[in-house]
Amino acid sequence: LTSQKTVDYTVVGGGIAGTILACTLKKKEPLARVILIDDIRQNVSSQVAAGIFNPITGRLMSLTWKANELFQFLMPFYTDLERELDSQFVHPLPIFRILNSVSDQNDWTGQSTHPAYSRFLSEPEIVEMKGIFNPFGCLVIQNGGWLDVPKFLSAVKNSGLEIVSGTLPLSNRESLETGLKNLGIESHAVILCTGYRAAEDGLTGELGWSPVRGELLRIKHADLPADRILNKGCFILPYASGEWLLGATYDHNLTRQQTDKGKEQLLKKFSQIMDGTPEILEHRWGIRPATKDRRPFIGAIEEGIYLFNGFGSKGVSLVPFLAHHFADSLLSDKSWADPETSVFRFSG
Ligand SMILES: Cc1cc2nc3c(=O)[nH]c(=O)nc-3n(C[C@H](O)[C@H](O)[C@H](O)COP(=O)(O)OP(=O)(O)OC[C@H]3O[C@@H](n4cnc5c(N)ncnc54)[C@H](O)[C@@H]3O)c2cc1C
Repeated sequence: LTSQKTVDYTVVGGGIAGTILACTLKKKEPLARVILIDDIRQNVSSQVAAGIFNPITGRLMSLTWKANELFQFLMPFYTDLERELDSQFVHPLPIFRILNSVSDQNDWTGQSTHPAYSRFLSEPEIVEMKGIFNPFGCLVIQNGGWLDVPKFLSAVKNSGLEIVSGTLPLSNRESLETGLKNLGIESHAVILCTGYRAAEDGLTGELGWSPVRGELLRIKHADLPADRILNKGCFILPYASGEWLLGATYDHNLTRQQTDKGKEQLLKKFSQIMDGTPEILEHRWGIRPATKDRRPFIGAIEEGIYLFNGFGSKGVSLVPFLAHHFADSLLSDKSWADPETSVFRFSG
């Protein structure tokens, strides 16, 4: 007979969402009994992500949702953990957004002085970069960079978090309860942070998901810069000595493997930034847990069962700030009241 262990919070899923939430709960309330259940599969989004945090994103170069709050919170959060865990995983770097045309240049000369943007970027400038097509200049975005997500996750997980490996069956409440019992856990609250698989599980599948598959390449190339992230229809970030990451594709076809189409798309984008074909060292793929409106799902789905998921393509920037607030609401037994991230905003 398995002996039962009683805990306050069971966090399910050890990607960036579950790991940061479990660690935040423990930090805020060291006496809280927290367990993280994870089944560590291949191609988990957090393990393949490039880890970029960028306040100005997308084709339209919009200021990301909650940019001010997120970006004030993010660097102290990761650098405090670096100090505490005696590890290095966060790499602040300027992001050079390469402009496409004179009209881009004109738009951004005005836009960049707008108070909402001026904190994050300077006016367009012509920056000479060896070998890089850059006739219309760049916007230099500040406060960006990248997080080595796998390194970060293993440092946090090795810092004393209690982890149980296993899959919790999530077709309905009964299967979850039986699953917990089989793992020997009795828990007051369960928080599901299961990534894109939430879209396929009975308990959470109908909420309004729109998962997006992504591919990226780890490449070698002689002439790329090591002190900045380049961005023009794709990103190129300096990953390790002589190696860069080139990504990422966005595809609603959820084929469970890397594809030639994805590789070709990325190499085409690369050729719009510079000449030459890079050597491909690795081809990664994963599925982003995105929702229909690209906002997360946070809050209770049933009594004692919560969701903290739906971070789409921005887990690195969204999770620390939202975990901080969600942990406060869990610890104070208050319900999560933000309508923008309500779990039932599509399903009523
Ligand atoms: C190619 C690519 C590039 C990306 N680049 C970036 C980037 O530059 N910047 C950025 O911020 N984001 C990026 N992302 C998105 C980022 O990966 C996600 O936002 C983030 O990783 C989501 O984390 P998560 O913890 O919610 O989910 P996941 O990382 O999917 O983790 C979920 C975990 O739950 C576990 N699990 C699932 N079901 C169960 C169950 N029933 N029982 C037990 N365990 C379970 C899984 O095994 C997994 O470990 C990228 C994604 C892709 C695919």
